[in-house]
Amino acid sequence: MSRTKLLFTPGPLTTSETVKKSMLRDVGSRDREFLGEVSAIRRSLLALGNADDSYTAVLMQGSGTFAVESVLSTIIPRNGKLLVAINGAYGRRMAGIATVLGIPCEGIIFDEATPVSTERVAAALAEDAAITHLATVHCETSTGILNPVAELGRAASRLGRIFIVDAMSSFGGIPIDVVSDHIDFLISSANKCIQGVPGFGFVLARLHLLEKAEGCARSVSLDLRAQWQGLEADGQFRFTPPTHALLAFAQALRELREEGGVESRAARYAANHQALMHGMGALGFETYLAPHHQSHIITSFRYPLHPRFDFPEFYGRLSELGFVIYPGKVSHADCFRIGTIGHLFPHDMEALVGAIRQVLAGMQIDSARASLPVGRTEAYE
Ligand SMILES: *Cc1c(COP(=O)(O)O)cnc(C)c1O
Repeated sequence: MSRTKLLFTPGPLTTSETVKKSMLRDVGSRDREFLGEVSAIRRSLLALGNADDSYTAVLMQGSGTFAVESVLSTIIPRNGKLLVAINGAYGRRMAGIATVLGIPCEGIIFDEATPVSTERVAAALAEDAAITHLATVHCETSTGILNPVAELGRAASRLGRIFIVDAMSSFGGIPIDVVSDHIDFLISSANKCIQGVPGFGFVLARLHLLEKAEGCARSVSLDLRAQWQGLEADGQFRFTPPTHALLAFAQALRELREEGGVESRAARYAANHQALMHGMGALGFETYLAPHHQSHIITSFRYPLHPRFDFPEFYGRLSELGFVIYPGKVSHADCFRIGTIGHLFPHDMEALVGAIRQVLAGMQIDSARASLPVGRTEAYE
């Protein structure tokens, strides 16, 4: 293996040396110390989401999508119906999961450059009494846009619907309060803003709704209720737990506390984002989103209009210099993405911008503008 590169991605992302080192031992999945760690992790997650004792935290093996699928496949009853408010690929993925599972599902679709509209979602809920559950994505990682989960939660609660939030890329990096935001199920994973390594996801779940979901599961391994019961009964996972990833996560949680908690981490990510915007702006890059919709988690940049710009080459040259960025996921625009989360600091952002400047020069691209200067009608004629 070559040297470690810096990951400017939405996960897996750059982790600290101490998080990586915490994995250098083997633990038994039934070992008392390990079970103590699992139980402490569950308590910490509840505290991070500002949950009260009407919630429980359930850990689920697999990547984040497995945790999303475990929620959708377990808690929606046979006679239930899901509405997904969609403004990007991760919202579409939730609707896709429901469809495969045979769960009646409707998508309410918004432009990828605008947040989900609470007003329109509330109207859709009011119009269709069959809808029992509403789902959306907090930070839609396709673009980095933030959706108004507090408003949506209030609307869902007022209309008596259960609210599911994919907070995968925001939990731990943006303060969130499941109680006051009326979030019944919040889903995230180990390798995003808590800065652990991949291996499992987790769900903050409203206890009485989980209890009620008996007999609804459409999967054995992803049965969230059975997983919760297993963890409650003897502290263990039902099937082999990702022991090393859990050790890393326990260390990552300690480091989040040492940093000063979610507020401090959010401030560092915001400083990262500011450094990135400053540097990329100076190079002429344009963002996909308007600045007031842009989160500090990840940013989509439009491809330069320059005829010599080629993303695979740009990506490859940056990677050779030790900087890993991310391809785009916007439907109707050519973009690439740069994440500002993980064990990264403003000086890392400046180093990345320096590398991008060097790569552009190497590709003989003198301007990274994505749109034509006023008065020009053709690109580089
Ligand atoms: C990362 C992410 C996921 C999960 O992706 P996995 O590859 O399954 O870990 C889901 N939703 C959002 C918004 C994400 O950012």
